[in-house]
Amino acid sequence: MTSRRPVLAGNWKMNGNLQLAQELVAKFSSELDSDAVEVVLCPPAVFLANVKQLLEQNAAALAGTRIGVGGQNASALDGGAHTGEIAASMLASVGCDYVILGHSERRAMYGDTTVSVAEKFAKAIANGLIPILCVGESESERQQGNTFDVIAADLEKVVETNGKRAFDNAIIAYEPLWAIGTGNSATPEQAQEVHAFIRAHLAKISDSDANAVRILYGGSVTPDNAVELFAQADVDGGLIGGASLDADKFINLCQMA
Ligand code: PGA
Repeated sequence: MTSRRPVLAGNWKMNGNLQLAQELVAKFSSELDSDAVEVVLCPPAVFLANVKQLLEQNAAALAGTRIGVGGQNASALDGGAHTGEIAASMLASVGCDYVILGHSERRAMYGDTTVSVAEKFAKAIANGLIPILCVGESESERQQGNTFDVIAADLEKVVETNGKRAFDNAIIAYEPLWAIGTGNSATPEQAQEVHAFIRAHLAKISDSDANAVRILYGGSVTPDNAVELFAQADVDGGLIGGASLDADKFINLCQMA
């Protein structure tokens, strides 16, 4: 059995500020003392370089931990006349190691599709970033019994666009839409069922080692429900929204992952 290092990624969305970054880095410096969990901070893009710099300035206190920085989105294009967009190469140039792709909020409100997310994935990989690919079903898709089909379509498009080894260096986040920001997390059993499906499907459609791919759960994770979720066999950590904006809660979750 492959052992997978858990990942705890904080998705600030359009929240937070430099003060939060300072609080988090101060807390990590004094309270995180292990590299057993890979921590990823995903602030709004304007703060990425600051967060990276704060981590570097505190490198001595953070020795023995693994904390990286990630964007919340990247363009499917390399550059040009695209006002407001950010290229994957730009994220890499300010020190990002990761990028969240295909978050359901971007799909619902900013035009991300199965196809464009697979194209963004290509740019992330080409620029040395680790994609955190978000997949998940809506409430009605779940009710209609389409959960696995919806998720399979995204995974298959990524493999079709990026080749059979697309997931060699990528992370997947299962985020049921009905659980995001609702306080209504998936049950550990619901999460495990879908995570196991994702791993089995990856083994079927790709040549990447499905047992080595980290699959995070996201959707109303808090210190109150995380232990049971993270204890599931195929849950390798979490993608955290609301609770990542509270330094105490977030470090707590890092210690639980
Ligand atoms: P939430 O968000 O933890 O606030 O539910 C998770 C996410 O959208 O990544």
